[in-house]
Amino acid sequence: MASAAIIETRQTVKRFGEIRAVDGVDLAVEKGEIFGLIGHNGAGKSTLFKMMLGLLSPTSGEIRIDGRPPAGEAFRQIRRSIGYLPENVAFYDHLTGLETLRFFADLKGADRNACLPLLDKVGLCHAARRRVHGYSKGMRQRLGFAQAMLGNPKILFLDEPTTGLDPEGIRDFYRILDAMRTQGTTVILTSHILAEIQERVDRLAIMKMGRIDALGTMQSLRERADIPLRLQIDLRGGDADTVRRLLRQAGATEVNGGDGMISARCARQRKMEALRALASLPAVVDIQIREPTLEDVFLGYGQENAGGRMESAEKEGRL
Ligand code: ATP
Repeated sequence: MASAAIIETRQTVKRFGEIRAVDGVDLAVEKGEIFGLIGHNGAGKSTLFKMMLGLLSPTSGEIRIDGRPPAGEAFRQIRRSIGYLPENVAFYDHLTGLETLRFFADLKGADRNACLPLLDKVGLCHAARRRVHGYSKGMRQRLGFAQAMLGNPKILFLDEPTTGLDPEGIRDFYRILDAMRTQGTTVILTSHILAEIQERVDRLAIMKMGRIDALGTMQSLRERADIPLRLQIDLRGGDADTVRRLLRQAGATEVNGGDGMISARCARQRKMEALRALASLPAVVDIQIREPTLEDVFLGYGQENAGGRMESAEKEGRL
């Protein structure tokens, strides 16, 4: 596998008995990307992560992390430059937050002096000397994130990193990721909170039944999914019937509402036609356009493809 990708899988398969948890995944994550992996429960995300980290061996296929397979002596060095936040992070409850982080720093051969600044970075400075036993779910998650960042990793694997975080914590978390990306760190993360990751990752892969079913930027996924845009037209006085007629002429569907506000769905390709028609009406005082969300793409896609799946991830991004 010769490529510039820092994380690369080729036809990677993991079977557990009859279960094909990962079923032929081709993926290439470039250096400095923030890459999101989404999918239903049991889609194979965590299993793929564990193989990339060398915690599970693939049944077949290839994996390269920073150019090397995730196994053997050579990978031990690379592992030092990898941070991992597992889905269910477990700590020794009798240790304080600071002791916990120092324990992991020692295991990883990272600088102990970095621990307190890291706790500060994740907003846990005030609780550094409290036992983890008394930490809330979100505080444990923050501690897990600090642990993953020990040693300035080149690659971060984060499995559902924002579970339990409050809105401020989520915002701070993505700010930290952005700053790390600027320094060249590559991040791959999973999440079920689609609204949260849709504008915060560079690219996304949708995993389904062990395979990558769609891959691309949020905008490319939206365009390929071809889900109609939502229009909301605010009216002041004027003729709602004319607005409804013009919308229908422009191919809009689900035209609802009356005096004051009308909503409709409109194909992306006919958006400008609809907007031009509406803009000429003095009664139209505002038009809001709502792009499909990642949830729309994910759910729309899931329904359309309920009966089948893509032959190969080579068909990148096709929904
Ligand atoms: P979630 O979103 O719920 O965390 P996931 O996408 O991370 O799900 P995985 O944990 O990778 O999914 O699981 C994929 C499939 O592999 C599931 O059917 C799961 O039951 C199965 N599986 C995972 N680990 C094992 C194991 N050690 N032994 C047997 N089956 C397993």
